Amino acid sequence: MEDNGQTYSGFSSLAIHAGHTQDPNYAHLTPVYASSTFVYDDAEQGMRRFSGKEEGYIYSRWGNPTFSEAERKIAAMESFGVTDENGNPLQLKAYLQSSGMAAISTLLFSTLDTGDAVLSHYSLYGGTQEHMNTILPAKGVQSLIADLRDLNIAEEAIKNNPAIKMIYLETPANPTIQCVDIEALTKLGKQYGKMVACDNTFATPYLQQPFKYGVDFVVHSTTKFLNGHGTAIGGIFMGKDLAFMKGRAYVTYKALGGSGNPFDAFLLVNGMKTLELRMERHCANAEKVAAFLDGHPAVSSINYNGLPTHPDYAVAKKQMRHPGAMMSFELKGGLQGGIDFMNKLKFCTRTVSLGTCDTLLCHPASMTHYSVPREQREQFGITDGLIRMSVGMENIADILNDLDQALK
Ligand SMILES: *Cc1c(COP(=O)(O)O)cnc(C)c1O
Repeated sequence: MEDNGQTYSGFSSLAIHAGHTQDPNYAHLTPVYASSTFVYDDAEQGMRRFSGKEEGYIYSRWGNPTFSEAERKIAAMESFGVTDENGNPLQLKAYLQSSGMAAISTLLFSTLDTGDAVLSHYSLYGGTQEHMNTILPAKGVQSLIADLRDLNIAEEAIKNNPAIKMIYLETPANPTIQCVDIEALTKLGKQYGKMVACDNTFATPYLQQPFKYGVDFVVHSTTKFLNGHGTAIGGIFMGKDLAFMKGRAYVTYKALGGSGNPFDAFLLVNGMKTLELRMERHCANAEKVAAFLDGHPAVSSINYNGLPTHPDYAVAKKQMRHPGAMMSFELKGGLQGGIDFMNKLKFCTRTVSLGTCDTLLCHPASMTHYSVPREQREQFGITDGLIRMSVGMENIADILNDLDQALK
């Protein structure tokens, strides 16, 4: 990967250095550009900026130097070692947003119009599901859901619905850790002339690079592993069709108004520098936690795509560097078993979200999905005794000891 003429031989060098530009005041780290607006030397320069004849910042909802560093760094990580159709390094354009949902909303609003349809897997992040179920239909966009782990079902759905304009993937998906085959589904989508987008939040570009398989767009909630410390909500929307990204996507980004803020961008930039180190530790710990839970007498099943018994083990192995740090498991004690387990935790943290230094556990049936009727949530694999876990970077003995005492 080349960045300002610099080539990087590995991911950590890239994560630390890529996207950085020399600050005019020679600050070592790119500062928090806490300025809503940017000034012009004269009226003519203002004119050149507004007409796009001269590059430069105008107004922070439209772009800001601290956002730019985060955008360039994530784009560099997602395209590391990836080439375009002509064999040249893949070029991406990215927009930092105030949340993962803002990024997803900008993607969907800039690509789908009345009469179009989007096809997605039935296991998606809750907010994305809600957007697809409520916001898109009101806009006259149909949201179709199929089990995309079965390529025949995917192809049937695409054939039967010519209105489908985009295939939207999320892998691994929340909270079942189901994986879909990015390469096969992108190939299928392209065969039928569809756009393909992928939410890469759970994996991060260190574990998985969807652009390698030809997807058009990648979105992230940077709130999770990319930031890595739970200090800020954020998202990113990026694409490889530069004319589209600088055209309709930019107009939509500016008009929806979901751009990020400079301080959160600063936290994100610095958090991402340790992505490789953090993911290595998260993933190594997750493997040990899975081995501990697998076959534990209080646990009836475990969803972790690093176990050969997980139905998506082969797909995960093919497209991910490591199986990731997310898992869920089913307690034999059902709803009350889940509540008792959560109450007994002493070391691990009881909360939603994922991707922070500490180990986070949540019980969807009593927390995130409390208001969803049981029959409905069970369709998505959210059963009474299901626990979702984001494995942290603590010493493994402390994580295992806490799980051990809480499972008794
Ligand atoms: C958290 C999350 C989102 C939404 O991101 P926010 O930053 O909370 O808006 C989208 N997709 C996935 C997979 C997530 O985990």
